[in-house]
Amino acid sequence: INILAIESSCDETSAAVISDGKILNNIIATQSVHEKYGGVVPELASRAHQQHLIPVINEAILTSGIDKKELSAVAFTRGPGLMGSLMVGVSFAKSFAYALGIPLIDVNHMQAHILAHFIEDPKPNFPFICLTVSGGHTQLVLVKDYLDMSVIGETTDDAVGEAFDKTAKLLGLPYPGGPLIDRYAKEGDPSAFQFPISDIPGLNFSFSGIKTAVLYFLRDNLKNSPNFIEENLKDICASVQFTLIKMLMLKLKKAAKEYKINNIAIAGGVSANSGLRKELKDLASKHGWNVFIPKFEYCTDNAAMIAMAAHFKFLKGDFCGLDVTPEARMKF
Ligand code: ATP
Ligand code: MG
Ligand code: FE
Repeated sequence: INILAIESSCDETSAAVISDGKILNNIIATQSVHEKYGGVVPELASRAHQQHLIPVINEAILTSGIDKKELSAVAFTRGPGLMGSLMVGVSFAKSFAYALGIPLIDVNHMQAHILAHFIEDPKPNFPFICLTVSGGHTQLVLVKDYLDMSVIGETTDDAVGEAFDKTAKLLGLPYPGGPLIDRYAKEGDPSAFQFPISDIPGLNFSFSGIKTAVLYFLRDNLKNSPNFIEENLKDICASVQFTLIKMLMLKLKKAAKEYKINNIAIAGGVSANSGLRKELKDLASKHGWNVFIPKFEYCTDNAAMIAMAAHFKFLKGDFCGLDVTPEARMKF
């Protein structure tokens, strides 16, 4: 089984080829046009996907050593994501599958973030709980099987990645700021400043409060000392990151206890965060968890995870028709 997979949900144009469940490559073109705007501009993202898609797919096919006539299916991200961005990948996938006379496989991007865990060893055993943390989502997912998962908790407002990026923006750091906060936090004191820990009922999260708290905190301090940010950058980053991780871990611990599950995984772009990775390993030894942390390259958006999900769908004969449309708010 050889599958070509395409990811175009946000600002990464990516293609990968998977052969009998083994990822052969993972070509990613990151769009730099958004940097100067401090966030992804949807219209520009769609145009950049149009430019990058064919060269990226061409490279994926060439370096896989598999001829396009040997492909068994074409897979693509159907959603969730930016409508215009998704449209580019979906349209290409349809045309290509039609031209080659092979089936199409639609993939849910959030499910794929989780299935990235099955690309390499060690692979989690079912059932496991996955904390999916990315630019647009923050979810606790109960994973019963490859394609059988349900959301047991999620954010009621901002995603945690958004909280990282918006904090970074307030600090004057370029987009996406999450990785920069991580870098500065390593050299800062996490107890230098206190931010409120929001704890709403159940397994849901709320990250809009901390954004406002950081805004007022900076405004008040800048009034007295105009260089407050430069002088305290590392400590501010460390303190905000500490608070965000604390809020994530609070609900993760609660979920593990409630569902009596000790196989714990993280996924999505924010799972690249070194503070989160470290905290998770500490909790693993404390609570007897088996934790699963994906390789960096499979944390942020990539087509290898789409290919992995597509492989499982192919095995079940789960294909879609040429009338399929993208879904900006696709659920599991
Ligand atoms: P979604 O998957 O919800 O549709 P997305 O595809 O934009 O959203 P990802 O590519 O999975 O999200 O993740 C991007 C997010 O991850 C950004 O918010 C970015 O700041 C954050 N991120 C990446 N690396 C780190 C890091 N080391 N520390 C904190 N945040 C990080
Ligand atoms: Mg991205
Ligand atoms: Fe993503």
